[in-house]
Amino acid sequence: MSEEYENKDHIKKTIIVTGGSRGIGKSIAKELAELGFNIAILYEKDSKAAEETAFEIEKDSGIECLTYQASVADVTAINQCVNDIECKGGKIYGLINNAGIIRDGFLMTMPENDWLSVINTNLFGTFNCSKAVLPLMKKNGGGIIVNIASISGIKGEAAQVNYSATKSAIVGFTRSLAVELIEHSISVYAIAPGFIETEMVKVLSPKIVENNIKNIPMHRFGKTDDIANIIRFIFKENPSYMQGHVFIPDGGLNCI
Ligand code: NDP
Repeated sequence: MSEEYENKDHIKKTIIVTGGSRGIGKSIAKELAELGFNIAILYEKDSKAAEETAFEIEKDSGIECLTYQASVADVTAINQCVNDIECKGGKIYGLINNAGIIRDGFLMTMPENDWLSVINTNLFGTFNCSKAVLPLMKKNGGGIIVNIASISGIKGEAAQVNYSATKSAIVGFTRSLAVELIEHSISVYAIAPGFIETEMVKVLSPKIVENNIKNIPMHRFGKTDDIANIIRFIFKENPSYMQGHVFIPDGGLNCI
């Protein structure tokens, strides 16, 4: 454990996890609560999942978990949430830009709306939430932002031009923002996972799953805990000399 971590009072520091109601975001929120941070999760549709996650977090770690139903792409709603979180949850110290969607399809037949909605949630949402927290993080003396990208933003993937475009852009966004925020003691990292077992990959056909597992050097999909473990490392150690680093938990897929 770093000296910096040990000397910090975590009790009044809050981390916002977008898309924290289920999947990867849920594991991240639970891990951060175990570290002692206050948690606020944002979700778009499924209030029941968000309530269940908040209940689990409160039961397991004794940490109060705030929940907000707001689209990451809604400027007014996100600014209201962020201000409310700072008042009720404690000083905002972290943001995990995790909310994301897929609308897969080949470019030749992709409806414009499938392009625009993926760009809006994945990319504009990351911009919007980051912009909303920055004045408070700066006032609070620093913080950490982690953006969830994807291996699809690093390697090509057929039928995912919309999704891949946003995830590559998130890598560029991370690197530029990391440089921009050094003077404010705010660190920015990205995580670009390979296939992780969540609702998002449940839409894949058994044949596609089988082919993908064959291609992954470790021959298995990852677990949400594989991502939460990286978040634990980042928030325990804040490896700030790695500014803009992109962690790639993918069972070796990017190596081949
Ligand atoms: P899930 O589909 O399981 O969960 C998505 C979460 O995002 C839900 O909480 C959902 O809330 C929320 N969400 C979706 N749209 C919005 C929005 N507009 N505003 C606020 N919240 C929203 O996804 P995963 O856990 O699998 O993925 C999480 C992140 O990891 C995504 O960015 C994804 O692209 C990325 N990723 C996932 C991989 C995988 O294999 N699973 C691989 C690589 C990257 P609600 O249910 O209420 O709509």
